[in-house]
Amino acid sequence: MALDCVVIGSGIIGSFTALALHERGLRVAVVDRGGLAPGTSRSSDGNLLSSDKSPGLMLALSERSLSLWGRFARDYGNHCEYDPKGATVVARGTGEAEALAAHVAAHREAGVDCRFIDDGWLAYEPHLGPDTSAIGYWPADAQVQPMLACYQIARLLQEGGVPYRFYRDVTALEPGPDAVAVTLEGGERLEAGHVVLATGVWTNELLEPLGRSVPVRPRKGHIAVLERGDVQVNSKIADFGYQATAEDTSGDESTVQTAAIIESTRSGTILCGSSREFSGFDRRVDHHTLSRVLADCIAIVPDLARLRVLRAYTGLRPFPADGLPILGPVDDQGRVVVATGHEGAGQGLAPVTAELVAEMIAKGETRPFDGALHPERFRQ
Ligand SMILES: Cc1cc2nc3c(=O)[nH]c(=O)nc-3n(C[C@H](O)[C@H](O)[C@H](O)COP(=O)(O)OP(=O)(O)OC[C@H]3O[C@@H](n4cnc5c(N)ncnc54)[C@H](O)[C@@H]3O)c2cc1C
Repeated sequence: MALDCVVIGSGIIGSFTALALHERGLRVAVVDRGGLAPGTSRSSDGNLLSSDKSPGLMLALSERSLSLWGRFARDYGNHCEYDPKGATVVARGTGEAEALAAHVAAHREAGVDCRFIDDGWLAYEPHLGPDTSAIGYWPADAQVQPMLACYQIARLLQEGGVPYRFYRDVTALEPGPDAVAVTLEGGERLEAGHVVLATGVWTNELLEPLGRSVPVRPRKGHIAVLERGDVQVNSKIADFGYQATAEDTSGDESTVQTAAIIESTRSGTILCGSSREFSGFDRRVDHHTLSRVLADCIAIVPDLARLRVLRAYTGLRPFPADGLPILGPVDDQGRVVVATGHEGAGQGLAPVTAELVAEMIAKGETRPFDGALHPERFRQ
C-alpha cells in the first residue's frame, strides 16, 4: 500500500496524530517497538490542564486542546474515562493566596473560565487541610485514562484499515526527494511521503544518524497509587507550587523537585504525584523521592495518610530546552516531522499537537505561531 505518512510511536502523541491524519483522508501506518503506548504515555497521570499554565502560547494550546478532547469524546464515544471534573489549585499562607489570586485574574483576563475562592472551599474539596488559605477552581479542566485513549484510537484506526506494526523497532530513516524510506527491525521497508517522529524521549536515536537532533531530555517523575478508601477527591487537586516545577526550564541537574498533584481514578484509587529530576533514562523508583511526593500530598490533603500505597511507578517526560513542544520538519526535504517535547503536558496537548502536525503534512503549514514551535528555533 502506498502510504502518505508513517507515524513512529503509538503513545498519546502518535495515536492522536495518526487519527488526525486519517480523518483528513491520508493513508497512515503506525509503528512502535513495544506494544501499544509502552513509553511515557503508559506511566503518566491523566490530567488535561489549563490551570497550571501561565498565560501565553502554552495556555492557548491547552485551551484549544481541552476543547478537542471534549470533541473526541463526543464524536467517537467516551471509552477513555474522559471526565471534565475540574481542577483545584491550593494556596497555603497569605503570600500564596495573593499569588494565586493574581494567577486566576490573569487567566480570566485571557478568557479562561476559573474563579478564586477564599472562603468555603470545603464545599469543593471536603478533605483539604487546615493550612489551606484559598483555592483557585478551573471547572473545564479534565481527566482521562491515557492508555484507554490510546486503545480507543488504535481500535478506531485498525477498523478503518490503518496498519499497526507492534514490537518493531524503526532502525533507519532515509529521506529522499519523493519519499522517506523507513526500515523496520527484521528488514521490512515502508515508504511514505512523510514520517512523524512521535518518539518522545527517544527521538534523537532516529535523528542523530541523519545529522540532526532536538534538545529533548528525559525528566523523571514518580507517582504513587493509593488504595481506594473514604477520602473524597472530586477534582484534580494541585499545590500552587506545582506550576512552578512544571514550568521550570532551568534544566538544573542537581535537584529533585517535588510538588503535590492528586487525582482520583474511576476505579477509586488515588494517584499522588509528582517529582521532577534529570537522571538519564534510569526509571528506578527512589523511595526517598516517593516519600517526599507523599508528604507533599498529605500536606494539602491530610486524610490521605490513612490510605496504603498499592504501588509506585516512574515515567520519563520529554523535557524541551525552552519549555515549548517541538513540532515541525527537521530534514532538508521537509519529510521528517518531529512531534515531541511536551514534558508534563503531553496528554493534555495531544489533540492540538495532532491538529497542527496534520495541517503541516496535509497543507504544508509548517510554521504555526510564527515558527514558535518549529525545531529550527534551536539552530545556531
Ligand atoms: C509521572 C508523569 C506524570 C505525567 N502526568 C501528566 C498529566 O497528568 N497530564 C499530561 O498532559 N501529561 C502528563 N505527563 C506527560 C505525558 O505523559 C507525556 O508528555 C506524554 O506521554 C508524551 O507522549 P509521547 O507520545 O510523546 O511519548 P511516549 O508515550 O513515550 O511515546 C513514544 C513512543 O515511541 C516509541 N519509539 C521510540 N523510538 C522508537 C523506534 N526507534 N521505533 C519504534 N518505536 C519507537 C516508544 O516505544 C514509545 O511508545 C506525565 C508524565 C510523567 C512521567
